[in-house]
Amino acid sequence: MGRADASSIFDRVADALIAENAADTLKRNVLGPLIDALRDADWDTWGESRERYANDLVIAELFAKLGHEIDGNGVYGEIDFADSAWSLRCSRHGLVGGGTDTPGEHDRLVRLWAQHDHELHGGDGAVDTDVLIDPQAVID
Ligand SMILES: [Zn+2]
Repeated sequence: MGRADASSIFDRVADALIAENAADTLKRNVLGPLIDALRDADWDTWGESRERYANDLVIAELFAKLGHEIDGNGVYGEIDFADSAWSLRCSRHGLVGGGTDTPGEHDRLVRLWAQHDHELHGGDGAVDTDVLIDPQAVID
C-alpha cells in the first residue's frame, strides 16, 4: 500500500468520526486498530496524521501510545506504553519513571523528562509541548 493512501484512509475515517462527534470510546475502538493495521502495512508517514490531529485528545493519546522520543542535551528520553502503563527511559540512565494509563500521566513523564534532562544532563529544562497529549491542561 502506498504511504499517501494510508494517510488518506486514516484521515478520512478520523474526519468522519470527528464530524459526527463520535464518543471517545468509539474513536478509540475504531482508530486504535486502524493505526495498528496501517502501520503493519508500512505506514511510515503517520507522523503527519499525528500532527494534523494533535488537538484531538483521543487521537493524540493513540499516537503517543506508539511510543516516542524526546530530545535532551546529548541524550534522549523514550516514552513507551506497554502492559497498561507508561514508562520513561533515559538513553544514558535507563528507567526514569512510570505512570498509569491516563493522558495526564503521559504528560507528567514528558515534564519529568525536561526536569531529568536539566538536572542530570545540563539541558535547558524546557518542556517539549509538541509531544504533550493535552498542552492546555492545568498543572497543579
Ligand atoms: Zn539521564
